[in-house]
Amino acid sequence: MTAPEDVLAELRALRAGDLPTHGGRTLAYVYDSALPGLDDLAARAHALASSANGLDPTAFPSLLELENDVVAAAARLLGGGVGTVTSGGTESCLLAVLAARDSRPEVTTPSVVLPETAHAAFHKAAHYFGVRLVTVPVDPATFRADPTAMAAAITDDTVLVVVSAPSYAHGVIDPVAPIAAAAAARGVRCHVDACIGGWVLPHADVAPFDFSVPGVTSISVDLHKYAYCPKGTSVLLHANADLRRPQFFAAADWPGYTMLNTTTQSTRSGGPLAAAWAVLRHIGDDGYRTLARRALDSAHRVREGVAGIDGLRVLGEPESTLLAVTATRDDFDVFTVADEMRARDWYVQPQFAHGSSPTNLHLTVTAANAGGEAELLADLRDSVRAATAAGPVRVAPEVVAAIGALDPDTLSPREFAGLLAAAGLGGGAVLPERMATVNALLAAAPPALRERLLVEFLGVLHS
Ligand SMILES: *Cc1c(COP(=O)(O)O)cnc(C)c1O
Repeated sequence: MTAPEDVLAELRALRAGDLPTHGGRTLAYVYDSALPGLDDLAARAHALASSANGLDPTAFPSLLELENDVVAAAARLLGGGVGTVTSGGTESCLLAVLAARDSRPEVTTPSVVLPETAHAAFHKAAHYFGVRLVTVPVDPATFRADPTAMAAAITDDTVLVVVSAPSYAHGVIDPVAPIAAAAAARGVRCHVDACIGGWVLPHADVAPFDFSVPGVTSISVDLHKYAYCPKGTSVLLHANADLRRPQFFAAADWPGYTMLNTTTQSTRSGGPLAAAWAVLRHIGDDGYRTLARRALDSAHRVREGVAGIDGLRVLGEPESTLLAVTATRDDFDVFTVADEMRARDWYVQPQFAHGSSPTNLHLTVTAANAGGEAELLADLRDSVRAATAAGPVRVAPEVVAAIGALDPDTLSPREFAGLLAAAGLGGGAVLPERMATVNALLAAAPPALRERLLVEFLGVLHS
């Protein structure tokens, strides 16, 4: 056996190579409240319940009570409803699509109408559940869903209409009311994906986006984002129990226990749920109001600051805590800006051009960024200067043309391996220090090819 302290030392050494999850310098993937003691509370609550199994609420009634408490907190914030705690935003979105599909068994070719800015989780749902996506272009200036175009896309096959509050990529809120009304008029469900905004926007001065809006039938909100809970919890709310029923699953036709599940999981650790419950209980309504204001104000300061940096511009008019920053000149590359920020110990997330959205950098601002805006903005300004001095990334036009002409369906695994190596992704987990060239090459690949290339890359990583 290896001594526990040695095992933990090994784990600590591995974790030292990761991006920091605290301090506000990682502007995607992680959410930091900056509240002292929160991690410790969550870890202790997690440990108290991680061996309990949510599979059977009659065997572990504590977990049922915790779940009902957590769902009630979400319902208080979002205008009511009944719900389920899931493992994350993707699972909440998957289940919203599943419930919508199965509520309409007479529809043989079900489809979901969604703005092109809706989260990729809905693409995953379509892939898993055999549902067709009808993606509708957004307003090219605001990146908000277009209510007229969304309404026109609804057909007899539509089982669900999706809107975001806000969208992940741009942080803008779709016009929920007219779209939910158009869905309701056709008898179609309307899901508000508030995975990232649901715990913040109730404290912001924005148009209603919750169950107070007629026609909204379900809402997803992630606790592991702006509720600052450890990873592994989200809530899916339905407006009423009838709408929720097709989400549940029972299997009695085998010799074992009747499998009775609310989510895609069956055995469910009590750990993430207990940790989330403890964090919600500790922070409380007033605490969340303060944290939300802090993150909103900080995002506002960053937005104003970016507007004052020569060469940069914020896309659309984000009303939440996220922003997408693009270049206003072509003598530098935002991919290089991301590398320069990395060299200054910041992580900002490159987003490829898509539809009307140009190549940009995504920033998720949290409460931990309050007070650090000046340093962030100064480093961003310096990074643009350095990227301008370096000049734009040059991918030879013939390479761009060659990539654009590749058909992912006809490439062999060997050809993919060659492409990955050529793109600088052949070295497994060891990525190049600077990613701008890799990103520029990936950007030249159409989405279908990029998907296949990166799936091959996953195979290289998991070897
Ligand atoms: C994060 C996010 C999701 C997916 O959530 P995961 O927890 O990463 O699975 C879905 N929708 C939106 C708007 C999000 O921001």
